[in-house]
Amino acid sequence: MSAELIDGAAIASQVLDEQKQRVAVLWRKKVRPGLAAILVGENPASEVYVRNKARACEEVGLHSELHRLPANCSESDVLALISRLNGNAQVHGILVQLPLPSHLDSERILQSVRPDKDIDGFSWHNLGALVAGNTRLAPCTPTGVMVMLDRVGIEIEGRNAVVIGRSVIVGKPMALMLIGRGATVTVCTSKTRDLREHTSRADILVVAVGKPGLVDGTMIKPGAVVFDVGINRMPDGKLAGDVDFASAREVASHITPVPGGVGRMTVAMLIANTVSAAERLIQPKS
Ligand code: NAP
Repeated sequence: MSAELIDGAAIASQVLDEQKQRVAVLWRKKVRPGLAAILVGENPASEVYVRNKARACEEVGLHSELHRLPANCSESDVLALISRLNGNAQVHGILVQLPLPSHLDSERILQSVRPDKDIDGFSWHNLGALVAGNTRLAPCTPTGVMVMLDRVGIEIEGRNAVVIGRSVIVGKPMALMLIGRGATVTVCTSKTRDLREHTSRADILVVAVGKPGLVDGTMIKPGAVVFDVGINRMPDGKLAGDVDFASAREVASHITPVPGGVGRMTVAMLIANTVSAAERLIQPKS
């Protein structure tokens, strides 16, 4: 069997088209949704991510602004900038590009973003809402995986789902979203004793680790749906996921490629979150 590719680029492009329509409605109400990105220091990968996000904003008609701070800036410089953006009515979504330089307290900085402008969904308020089943401003990467599952028409309820990785950005919110949709979820980590035992029972497998080739075809249940979240820069300069694509493709029923899979959806969901934040921020307060 050769798995069907889940085309993240095509689904992301559909999602972005839908955002254009929502943005048009907001424009008619004289609101132009705005996204402010904060980039501290000069990390080449972060530069690429921020550029992709700005390009997506432009594509759907969002205002975007980039705030650059030097690598040696102080924590209070970042907090002061966030405080200004929190109060800026033209800005509906704020994103702090990670990773931050090690002298900065990332948690403190992320938690200073107003929850209703927290389009990355990393605030405790929004993460807590997710635990309670509210996915309104939820982390973008797992949201993108859920959208792909739905658009491809994969049944979730009652299936065995295995998530490898327990980060706040991907693994934990992914597990919560799958639980919310009625999957039976196992979360594996670096402490898991027999990874294969778990992966080989997964109907839906999400791998978010950052180790190329961690999962190969021999570890996958025939017919499983595989989402490869990992992004690894290989010695030849190419990008690879965490899943050995060639062998996994022979066993799975559906699989995401890297690049062109989950990563494209992450950007699309960030834009969707910004539009949602703008829609909510202009609602009259009751
Ligand atoms: P992270 O914070 O480093 O978390 C990695 C997780 O993998 C940890 O929970 C770790 O377990 C677990 N792990 C490490 N080695 C393992 C092993 N041998 N077996 C099972 N689990 C293991 O990373 P992250 O931020 O979640 O990102 C994960 C990957 O996804 C990275 O490649 C990142 O670049 C990529 N990513 C992609 C997107 C996208 O849009 N496609 C978005 C975000 C991240 P412990 O907790 O026990 O250490």
